[in-house]
Amino acid sequence: MAKDDTPTRDATLCVHPPEVSQEGYASLAVPTYRASTIVYPDGEAFLRRATRGADGYTYGLHGTPTTRTLEEQITRLHGGARTLIVPSGQAAISMVMLAVLKPGDHVLIPDNAYPPVRALCADYLNPRGIAHTVYDPMIGAGIADLIEARTRLLWIEAPGSGSMEVPDVPALIAAARARGVLTGCDNTWATPLLFKPLAHGADIVCEALTKYVGGHSDLLLGSITVADIALHRELRATLGTLGIGVSPDECALALRGIQTMAVRLAHVGQVAEDFARRLVGRPGVAAVLHPALPSHPGHAAYSRDFKGGSGVFSLVLEPGQEAHLGAALGALKVFAIGASWGGTHSLVAPQDIASIRTATRWPHAGPLLRLSIGLEDPAELWDDLAGLLDRLSAG
Ligand SMILES: *Cc1c(COP(=O)(O)O)cnc(C)c1O
Repeated sequence: MAKDDTPTRDATLCVHPPEVSQEGYASLAVPTYRASTIVYPDGEAFLRRATRGADGYTYGLHGTPTTRTLEEQITRLHGGARTLIVPSGQAAISMVMLAVLKPGDHVLIPDNAYPPVRALCADYLNPRGIAHTVYDPMIGAGIADLIEARTRLLWIEAPGSGSMEVPDVPALIAAARARGVLTGCDNTWATPLLFKPLAHGADIVCEALTKYVGGHSDLLLGSITVADIALHRELRATLGTLGIGVSPDECALALRGIQTMAVRLAHVGQVAEDFARRLVGRPGVAAVLHPALPSHPGHAAYSRDFKGGSGVFSLVLEPGQEAHLGAALGALKVFAIGASWGGTHSLVAPQDIASIRTATRWPHAGPLLRLSIGLEDPAELWDDLAGLLDRLSAG
């Protein structure tokens, strides 16, 4: 069987895996292609490798068929032009800002942004000559008054992290577009299954795939999907220059997770909304922050623009329960205490929203608990939650 050019020396055999037949092999799984080096058929092809462009394979850092499959799947779900996969959700946001903002530019971020975004602007971009203004997420078309000649990007998060207000995304985008300002939206909560920002005119949508796409609390990835191919080239160049790429093994986990996302999301969305409605008016609960509730800030925009809710919402406890909170949370049986939501396990995380607000006054006095509903038995989850509230109101 050995052809003339088949190596025969042991050390070379160790380096060259044999080619085996793939005849008849068909699998439903996306193969995990790993590579740093990409090899070329001849010297000419190697010398011309730059002509392969932003979509071509030239180096493992810039993608393999596994990462491209995940990119393309997310692109299709969002109806975008291209997607880039980066090491985390926060990296997705920071890469967008690093790629599009230059010294002298200005970015608008909402008061309910994922907190590290505020830190990115204040602690990293500001000292490098990029200014920011924090806006009231419910400002709507009034955002026009905050757009300056130097404003390059309007950042949106819908709904806000933990605080859950739903901004009027189409109004924000319309005001930005009228002034030639790029718009980007953090869509982690909704996923493209429940909200598609590009369809509302956004230029960029970022997601923490860490959450619902991964779905099992065991990976970190982020996505940047753009509506315009020129923006893709700009972002791809920035990632390459900064040396940002992802492991195809993480992408393979995400490709597995995304297959069940629609079913998981439908389930947790329904349980979360049911719990939210049942928690309204319960002793010890001052407010339930779920956009499906008519009293919720942005309920009208949510009903108009979103297909439904995911599994994350918050509740505000009556003031005075802070002292018992630690012990009461420690006695939970099914809910785990932790921040990075979207997995199969239900989570609870206390948050202090008032202390991070700068553009708006947080209207609630009591402590806030952010809940992420997972896939456990809903009745058992409800008993756990009810037990927590009973312990808290008993003191
Ligand atoms: C978790 C999260 C992020 C960051 O994602 P990581 O993968 O943890 O960096 C960004 N935005 C929102 C809304 C998130 O919930």
